[in-house]
Amino acid sequence: MLEFAKSFGERMKRRALLKTLLLGTIFQIIGEEAEARKHPVVLRVRYSSTEERTRIVLDCTSTVSRKSIKERVRGKTVWLDLHGVGAARRIEKRLKSPLVKEVEVLPITSRRTKVKLVLKEPHRFKIFGLKSCGSRPFRIVIDVFPEFITTECKVRRVPQRVVVIDPGHGGKDPGAVWPVRSKHPKIEEKWITLSIALKVRKYLQRNPDIKVVMTRTRDVYVPLLKRAEIAAKSCADAFVSIHADSMPRYPQWSGVTVFKASPKLFAKAERTAKAVAKNVKLCSDVMCWSISPLLINLATTVTFAESSKLAEAIVQSLKAHVNDELINGIKDMYRNILVLKTPGRPAVLVESGFMTNPLDRKRLVKRWYQEEIAKGIAQGIERYIQSLNTVALAEE
Ligand SMILES: [Zn+2]
Repeated sequence: MLEFAKSFGERMKRRALLKTLLLGTIFQIIGEEAEARKHPVVLRVRYSSTEERTRIVLDCTSTVSRKSIKERVRGKTVWLDLHGVGAARRIEKRLKSPLVKEVEVLPITSRRTKVKLVLKEPHRFKIFGLKSCGSRPFRIVIDVFPEFITTECKVRRVPQRVVVIDPGHGGKDPGAVWPVRSKHPKIEEKWITLSIALKVRKYLQRNPDIKVVMTRTRDVYVPLLKRAEIAAKSCADAFVSIHADSMPRYPQWSGVTVFKASPKLFAKAERTAKAVAKNVKLCSDVMCWSISPLLINLATTVTFAESSKLAEAIVQSLKAHVNDELINGIKDMYRNILVLKTPGRPAVLVESGFMTNPLDRKRLVKRWYQEEIAKGIAQGIERYIQSLNTVALAEE
């Protein structure tokens, strides 16, 4: 009796256990099915492309966490492994893009998908998600940028500093001319500025810590806003614009002048920015630099202090190369000059001499004088860059 009761009790216990296990499994299956319905599926691939960026968009049925996307780069091919993500079908797309050749979506299992991007060069890319919004579904976005991935440099060193050299004028815009207002001038400012600027580049390129970016290297017209944009995009540590002055009413004026923007100019410019922006015009003289309200809003006082340091360094080393008396020193620029106001970019404008002064004019076209001016500018920039690196190292 006791035995029976014991075994009966045990049997009941076992049955209960079995029941729980069975029910558990059933619930688990139901749960999995629900989840299976829930897990995201890639529906289609779209893309848009400009010179600066190619954006590839994968429309998904629901949210994909960034953690479930693993990327792997093999030369020009980027593989994305999407875990817990399905794909409606195999998709293959050839892109009309300067950066990306093709995209392929490969369903591996119902919960695993691979995406293959074939780039034209090993470009930089960024992956992120965009939440569903209104009629737009959740999107996985892959942005490809034209910068090259540097793979060879493993040794840690102070990163290269970027210096933008801006030869004034060019192409249809000759700048100042001599004889003044002549239709067939003997001297055009655009050639002097280009010649000096290329020499500055030659000297700076000898310094492995400096990367030189030019706004132009040929006789081409580069709009002023484009020049400011080049400075901003290259994250320039210094921006140096090169010009030659012209003062027909004061032929006695001569010498090299280094201009930096005046803080007063900003205050004034801010007030007139909107009015000016409405009436943007790009004309041949630097005086007409148009102002973008955005650029002004972003301007910081740091830029003024840094621009002063840069101007000071250039003036000092110019004095070592060109007769002291020829150096007029630093002046505040009160005119609206866009390049001097690129946000966060210490910038100066070097007027390398007066085309309206007979002696300056003779010198300006001479190779030896251009070399000396260029050496002075280049060494000034190097000195300034060196001061930046010292500060950066001290902070580490
Ligand atoms: Zn000029």
